[in-house]
Amino acid sequence: MDPLHFESKTKEQTQGPLPRLYLLYHELRAGEGRYPYAIGAVMFGRHIDLFVRARAAKRPGFWPEPTFDDGHISNYEVAYPLLQSRGLTARFFITVGWTGNRLDYMGWEELRSLHKDGNPIGAHGWTHTLLTHCNDRELQAELSKSRLTLEDKLGTSIAAMSLPGGRYNRRVLDACLQAGYTQVYTSVPKAESMPLGTTVGRVNILGNMQPEWIERLLQIDSSALCRLKRRYRMKEATKRLLGDRLYEGLWAIVNRREPETSSGEGDSQ
Ligand SMILES: [Zn+2]
Repeated sequence: MDPLHFESKTKEQTQGPLPRLYLLYHELRAGEGRYPYAIGAVMFGRHIDLFVRARAAKRPGFWPEPTFDDGHISNYEVAYPLLQSRGLTARFFITVGWTGNRLDYMGWEELRSLHKDGNPIGAHGWTHTLLTHCNDRELQAELSKSRLTLEDKLGTSIAAMSLPGGRYNRRVLDACLQAGYTQVYTSVPKAESMPLGTTVGRVNILGNMQPEWIERLLQIDSSALCRLKRRYRMKEATKRLLGDRLYEGLWAIVNRREPETSSGEGDSQ
């Protein structure tokens, strides 16, 4: 274990569990690109250097926790070695129906390696359909089939899931709990005190977010998180006004991606 990693453990041991700030990543890419949720490998390296420093810092702040949604192959080929080189782990949420049979997404061998090295694995649905669009039977299939398949293939219990597109309502949350999940990761930008509750907020990280801005986000008294919360509330109000499907279509046009309800890719949060 490297010295910084050891120091970060010591900080928690002496101060008790710090409030968490969960950060949501998707794809990593080698160079520049237009897809806003893909982040460059060099930039990601700067982010995780910041996480190591933040965890070791003497002054209190949020404890950064990286998570990944979708199961893109770059999570394994790019993010995993970078995390390993800093002694860090991350939580990976997998679109289970894509595993092993969709180009550019991880297979079971990659997932077993991540799990074996201490990276918690969670579900992200079976087909990445927005759960708020599912009828009861579809909802049950998206939630149960993905959990049971992960458990079978990885030989471990799966208790966490993240919501495709971040969409949820009371009915979806109840179905998640009924399907055996005890923690549901959302895209609501908020910090979490420990122990975690049933829903866990996360900050969606975009490719243009500089480490200096994330450093401000990790300060407990910073206004950066409040601004994100205001922006999130405005986006939610826009979705309610336009309707989910129109919002999806507009988001895909602006970002030159297929709407995720038809292609299955991306998170138009
Ligand atoms: Zn997703």
